[in-house]
Amino acid sequence: MRFLAGGALERFANALAATHEVFAPQRRGDDLVLARVGGVGSGELPWNACRLREPLKSIWFQPGRIVARWPPSAEEEPPRPRALFGVKACDLKAVACLDRVLRDHEFQEPAWCAARESTLVIAGDCTDCAPSCFCTMVGDRPYPTALFDLCLSPSGGGFLVESGSPRGAQLLAEHEELFTAVPSEAVAGRDRARREMTERVREQNARYPVRDPFEKSVAKHERTRIWGELAATCVECHACNMVCPTCHCFLLHDVPAGAVSLRLSLWDSCFSAGHARMAGGLTPRLQLTERFRNHYQHKFVTFPRTWGITACSGCGRCIDACMGGIDKRACLHLLETRWIPSEVARELA
Ligand code: SF4
Ligand code: SF4
Repeated sequence: MRFLAGGALERFANALAATHEVFAPQRRGDDLVLARVGGVGSGELPWNACRLREPLKSIWFQPGRIVARWPPSAEEEPPRPRALFGVKACDLKAVACLDRVLRDHEFQEPAWCAARESTLVIAGDCTDCAPSCFCTMVGDRPYPTALFDLCLSPSGGGFLVESGSPRGAQLLAEHEELFTAVPSEAVAGRDRARREMTERVREQNARYPVRDPFEKSVAKHERTRIWGELAATCVECHACNMVCPTCHCFLLHDVPAGAVSLRLSLWDSCFSAGHARMAGGLTPRLQLTERFRNHYQHKFVTFPRTWGITACSGCGRCIDACMGGIDKRACLHLLETRWIPSEVARELA
């Protein structure tokens, strides 16, 4: 573990910019957005205290991209090495979900694998939380524990820098002039800040006490009518899917473009009526309530059963984005606490 003085963060980003495209939180009005930063900065690199409004997935899994063309063109250039600053734990949990689907089995998505391979992740602890953050409710913490190359934790007037991969260790060695020994008390300060932050997130969600695992709460309502009630204000805007860092459905769309034909991969939404449509036009989830149930079923039942991880990181973006004012925490709480007929409960036992 090493220490980076507060003012040296931008110097570190600039040093990386010599070899990487650097993406970092940048001010846009009152907001912070992830944007490419030039090699020479002016002023401090902003520290994002909490996850950004947009999901990180769009860096690796673009909303729209060409996956094939005819006639085929010359080999595509490999992606340029990138470095991402300001990555929070909830986005890393989402990367773990997408790795399972797109990388860690026999069918690998080449663009995702190449982008993951060529991207340095400079993560950071949360030092604040949005009112919608609920990572602790899904068993996670507001600080990164895995899948980063370096993790920055504010402490002692600067940052404790922890390496989480051989690439991270190499970075520390290559830029050793920027780092110093860890001051005494800095580790204790970081651990205290992490405990306090975890407690803050727990406290702000205390009105949604969780007793049962979400898998059980959602699964028990497979055939109940609660979904109509939960989906009553859903206007099918698809925003919850678009901002969700773990949602990864995509649609292949062919575009004839003169002498060239293109196949595009576009983000899709499970709230769309055509999402599960099969050849012949039949769709198993014609009603919105069925699609709404499927969204919860997939995130909290099917995905964990298939991949061993819940497809929700508690980032709360879907709560902020929902045009229908639907709060996932309130829905999960109701799913847990709503009584179901004893014969259904017996069948599930
Ligand atoms: S479902 Fe909502 S809270 Fe969970 S990861 Fe997606 S956007 Fe975040
Ligand atoms: S963001 Fe809200 S209104 Fe829009 S599709 Fe999702 S649940 Fe429905």
